[in-house]
Amino acid sequence: MMYGEVLLAATMEKVVSLCRRRGFLFQSSEIYGGINACYDYGPMGVELKRNIRDLWWESMVRARENIVGIDAAILMHPKVWEASGHVEGFTDPLVDCRVCKMRFREDEIDPEKRKDGRCPHCGNKNALTDARQFNLMFKTHMGPVEESASIIYLRPETAQGIYVNYKNVLDSSRLKIPFGIAQIGKAFRNEITPGNFIFRTREFEQMEMQFFVKPGTDAEAFEYWKEQRMKWYFQLGINREKLRLHEHGSEELAHYARAAFDIEYEFPMGWKELEGVHNRTDFDLSRHQEFSGKDLTYFDDSTRERFVPYIIETSAGVDRTVLTCLIDGYEEEKLEKETRTVLHLNPKIAPVKAAVFPLVNRDGMPEIARKIADDLMRRFNVFFDASGAVGRRYRRQDEIGTPFCITIDSQTLEDDTVTIRNRDTMIQDRAGIRNLLQIIGDRIRTESE
Ligand code: ATP
Repeated sequence: MMYGEVLLAATMEKVVSLCRRRGFLFQSSEIYGGINACYDYGPMGVELKRNIRDLWWESMVRARENIVGIDAAILMHPKVWEASGHVEGFTDPLVDCRVCKMRFREDEIDPEKRKDGRCPHCGNKNALTDARQFNLMFKTHMGPVEESASIIYLRPETAQGIYVNYKNVLDSSRLKIPFGIAQIGKAFRNEITPGNFIFRTREFEQMEMQFFVKPGTDAEAFEYWKEQRMKWYFQLGINREKLRLHEHGSEELAHYARAAFDIEYEFPMGWKELEGVHNRTDFDLSRHQEFSGKDLTYFDDSTRERFVPYIIETSAGVDRTVLTCLIDGYEEEKLEKETRTVLHLNPKIAPVKAAVFPLVNRDGMPEIARKIADDLMRRFNVFFDASGAVGRRYRRQDEIGTPFCITIDSQTLEDDTVTIRNRDTMIQDRAGIRNLLQIIGDRIRTESE
């Protein structure tokens, strides 16, 4: 239950401005004028991102006996991308405007404009070139000689690192099908139309899990993972009405996929993909088997059958989840005498769990506050702030989504209690200093549910 009346939900401009102001995200290389569609996470952003990754790892790997993690290299053998189809097919059709020199993805141009070659930017007729295929992979060279034999790619997805290690994982563990391999890591795509802040960037991070199943049991596993992944966003506290599943029609479906759903969120710019859940059949392992010449079949002891496993993939973007949490949590609220901006982040992912304030800088209050902060720091990320009016200190914490503010006041000096203010309700209650570690831990847990 919120205390203030909501004046404004998030707009992209508001969220971008808050991110910069409070140290969540900065433009990359800003002092040199920035580099397009690349962002750096600041002190608050890096905590938020880390907490989101940890929550995913916890629920996808640690909490499940049949899923293990790996961390594969970003640079892979170039043949991987031939087998995966990325060298040949990972392309977007691209058109240029001869007049204003702007570049567009053909599938994003209004078909009417495309027909008479009208540029969506400058409006000139017959200005657009024919479409050219543009490969989205970043190319570079391995070693000192820049020749064609040394070309390698920055991985455009983390999934291939899992497929090429499937046999290694199987042979070095006691896993039996069905089982999964999970990975979190960077991916790179030379996107033609990056934008919407960190929604689409050229360097980003994925959280992927590939689940290996016996053919014939794939439909059931697909349903299971669709549901599990939706639940994860619910548990993160994302507004359920802004989440939906979108099924790929036959035109959208990749050539290898039997079924695909996107989990979508209603961003300020409309419903957009947050995560893909795909039934990739035996396409990936069959292709790697063909291109590597290695046997990638699985032998089922119990039935004496040999087969190439089917794969159900769940592929989420770390940065897109960060953006979703920021947008979903952002509110401007009207209070009695003022307004406040608040990020209603799930306490589990909030960058700072508790702020500790001495009400005034005398009578021993700063010393007590310091001691409390040091004690809580053993378990939580804590912020100590002794400067300025206490109201302003609360506002600052609201803006970064700190769920609890602990204030040391004159009553503390008499009975060793402090106030704990709740970010969402703004209600304060008193608790004993001795139990604070336990109380804050309990409240983070209960308020996250
Ligand atoms: P789109 O159609 O939006 O380009 P996609 O269908 O190619 O996306 P996938 O290849 O399924 O995306 O990638 C899985 C997930 O990785 C996406 O749901 C998204 O969260 C994330 N992702 C993909 N590309 C980007 C990007 N350029 N920037 C940030 N996140 C991305």
